[in-house]
Amino acid sequence: MTMASLDILNPATGALITTLPADDAASVAAKAAAARAAQPAWAAVPMAGKVAVMQRFRAALLAQIDTLARTLTEETGKPITLSRNEVNGLLPRIDFFMEQAEGAIRDEHVFDGGGMHEQIGHIPLGVVLNISAWNYPYFVGCNVIVPALLTGNAVLYKPSEYATLTGLHITRLLHAAGVPADVMQCLVGTGEVGAAALAQRIDGAFFTGSHATGVKIAAAVAQRMVKLQLELGGKDPMYVRADVDVKAAAESLADGAMYNTGQGCCSVERIYVHEAVHDAFVDHFVATVRGMQRGDPLEADSYIGAITRAPQLQVLQAQVADALAKGATLAIGGHVLPGPGHWFEPTVLTNVDHGMEVMREESFGPIVGIQKVGSDAEAVRLMNDTRYGLTAGVYTKDEAKARELLALVNAGSVYWNCCDRVSPRLPWSGQGDSGVGLTLGRHGIQTFTRPKAWHLRSPG
Ligand code: NAD
Repeated sequence: MTMASLDILNPATGALITTLPADDAASVAAKAAAARAAQPAWAAVPMAGKVAVMQRFRAALLAQIDTLARTLTEETGKPITLSRNEVNGLLPRIDFFMEQAEGAIRDEHVFDGGGMHEQIGHIPLGVVLNISAWNYPYFVGCNVIVPALLTGNAVLYKPSEYATLTGLHITRLLHAAGVPADVMQCLVGTGEVGAAALAQRIDGAFFTGSHATGVKIAAAVAQRMVKLQLELGGKDPMYVRADVDVKAAAESLADGAMYNTGQGCCSVERIYVHEAVHDAFVDHFVATVRGMQRGDPLEADSYIGAITRAPQLQVLQAQVADALAKGATLAIGGHVLPGPGHWFEPTVLTNVDHGMEVMREESFGPIVGIQKVGSDAEAVRLMNDTRYGLTAGVYTKDEAKARELLALVNAGSVYWNCCDRVSPRLPWSGQGDSGVGLTLGRHGIQTFTRPKAWHLRSPG
């Protein structure tokens, strides 16, 4: 019998980094059973003890940032400065969870009268499964792992096959910090291992990934009473009004479109620009993109990295070809670059419309379409012409107008004069095909618990 294994490749060079032993159905079942057995004792650890564990985890992330960032860069092709930003960016999220966990799940005493006392308790779900994406593995992994552990759950964590070494680092550091090994289990493998984990007795399925896989996850647990949370893709639109500082708006939005080589759920994917400033905006935008440094992801000044998954190159190529065939203009980029590794030029398309795939389907790469609009109403109509609803934004000097327009846009997060931004204090959620449920914010702690209603009549 051959043992299951997983090859870890470097997408910037195509080289094999290592081959890992992978899980199979039997090892997944054993890990799930061990997590189930270990969870009650972990839930019984007082909050101060769990917070102390997370303090040690936080300290280890900081102490080992060089190693962690290098691994992340090698297995995903993310430029090293961005990898460091990601590890550093995790720290305030951990701080938020540590500060807020106790208050978020404290018993709530909601009524006293006529001899009745009513209170709400928040109890851990039990064993939660976290199936994760690769593009920001520290963020999307720990948005679940940290609050789930703080609220007393055991976690089965299936990192993406494109970020498994990072998933193993996270698991190793949590164990070293004091989370019992059975309480925090890493499952190594592809989607098949995720599917095997979904077949186990679990109390919550928390997924970050594509809409197509999200539908499969929902179907897999549909017959069972498993709490389901899906954080899926987006086609995030931004609107630039005529009253902006055009250069500043173009620079901000070019960063929002190209940061992480456009491989972000909240990367800017569509931009609508008022006709009065459209041409100037495109000029500044293209100049900004032209100045973005592409190169060895291990070099500190590289900004554009590799495309993590090879098959995505075809998606990007097809979107460009479809747009050009339908009359779009290529302002810059548009091509797969020669290997080794998987690389695509930062690409800006103008003269686009919603008949083109690039304005309808998630690109998840360094491609953006810029469309001219004549009014606020046209911009809002186009922003809402999508099956997704993750983030959306408006650039304008007029705060009242921004608030008015953003209230009309269907998105879980809305931005005024900023984009591609996540805050630990605010819930992160999607509308439409961008998902159900949420992480982050106070609600993103309570989501790992279920409410228990206490009706208490005193005998006196
Ligand atoms: P993906 O859907 O290909 O894979 C996600 C995870 O699901 C991986 O761990 C994979 O192994 C697993 N998986 C695949 N098939 C499975 C199955 N049948 N059963 C169980 N598990 C299975 O997505 P990806 O390429 O890793 O991530 C990119 C996508 O994630 C994009 O669409 C992006 O927008 C989205 N994303 C969303 C958010 C958010 O917060 N909304 C954040 C990051 C990424």
